[in-house]
Amino acid sequence: MNFHEYQAKQLFADYGIAVPKGIVARTADEAVAAAKQIPGEMWVVKAQIHAGGRGKAGGVKLARSFDDVKKYADAMLGTKMATYQTAGVELPIDSVLVCEGTDIAAEMYLSVLVDRASKTITFIACAEGGMDIEEVARTNPSAIKTVHVDYVQGLQAYQCRQLGFDLGLNAKQVGQLSKIMLGLYKLFNEKDLALVELNPLAILTNGDLAVLDGKINSDDNATFRHPELAAMRDIRQEDETEVLASQHDLNYVTMDGDIGCMVNGAGLAMATMDVISLNGGSPANFLDVGGGATKERVTEAFKLILSSDKVKAIFVNIFGGIVRCDMIAEGIIAAVKEVDVKVPVVVRLEGTNVEKGKELLRSSGLAITAADDINDGAQKVVAAARA
Ligand code: GDP
Ligand code: MG
Repeated sequence: MNFHEYQAKQLFADYGIAVPKGIVARTADEAVAAAKQIPGEMWVVKAQIHAGGRGKAGGVKLARSFDDVKKYADAMLGTKMATYQTAGVELPIDSVLVCEGTDIAAEMYLSVLVDRASKTITFIACAEGGMDIEEVARTNPSAIKTVHVDYVQGLQAYQCRQLGFDLGLNAKQVGQLSKIMLGLYKLFNEKDLALVELNPLAILTNGDLAVLDGKINSDDNATFRHPELAAMRDIRQEDETEVLASQHDLNYVTMDGDIGCMVNGAGLAMATMDVISLNGGSPANFLDVGGGATKERVTEAFKLILSSDKVKAIFVNIFGGIVRCDMIAEGIIAAVKEVDVKVPVVVRLEGTNVEKGKELLRSSGLAITAADDINDGAQKVVAAARA
């Protein structure tokens, strides 16, 4: 799950990390009222969307008067924004964060993530951060510093100091960095996060470090342990079909092909997508209906697949291990009737009670093509999608 910048900064503050004063606003008037509560003569108006790259897309504006704040907030709120990080999708700007403006001397990069290769929580830092960090990573990889944290010992103060000096900070800044890193490490562990990114972690002209931007991504598998994080979810920033799927406990990912897939088990779902591709087709989605493929869930799954008008044919590939094939067949029949499926449906069933399941499909009178095995099914569905 992703978080907005204002939510990330709130979590940072909860863990003792200083953040510039900021107030979230949902209207231009609220934005002006927010600026009036924030001392100083400069404010930053920042579009709140689940993506970085806002600066380059016009979503971060420096305002020097309340009129400017109003103008920028007005221009952003209610519109949609795509950045180089949104893969062509436009995200709605429902709120802006009005922040205290600061004078920046330099921009650094600091992130925390789980590094699978070293199996540790790892800090990644770079003295040259800001909006071109990807470019630095490409052209000057040695500028990127990493710190692996021993899980048993936890993050040690000396590791923070070492990183600070490697980044060229002075003693006072190293102290500030240590406080930030120790706070982030605690936050990361206690909230089961997957990624935290501060970019920029700025050095201000007065020499202080300042957290000017924050991104957080949490581990979805741990959301049940954190109702306080779940309450921060903003589904308007997420793919509509994927949100619907998650409400029915279906694992669904939108893809850009035209063959809808309904499969049980993530491994089989990926194998199915591979076999479709090998046969010259292109999957419209990844969908794992899970172990308990009940009639209700199969029906919901059909609805999800059909919510995209790109889908030209559907491949149902189910292995009846825990669930019986006859029950799956009943689910498919009921769902096809209820949802009024107009595209060809190819079904491959295997496993417990498979003969009973196939018989149910045959005698249903519905236009369902039975397949003998996964490859046969893929060939049939690819042909059906092309017809
Ligand atoms: P992103 O582009 O979505 O990552 O948004 P950021 O919050 O990182 O803002 C983009 C850029 O705007 C930063 O890299 C800074 O250069 C600039 N910026 C952000 N906040 C401030 C601020 O308080 N003062 C000044 N002068 N610039 C800022
Ligand atoms: Mg940023």
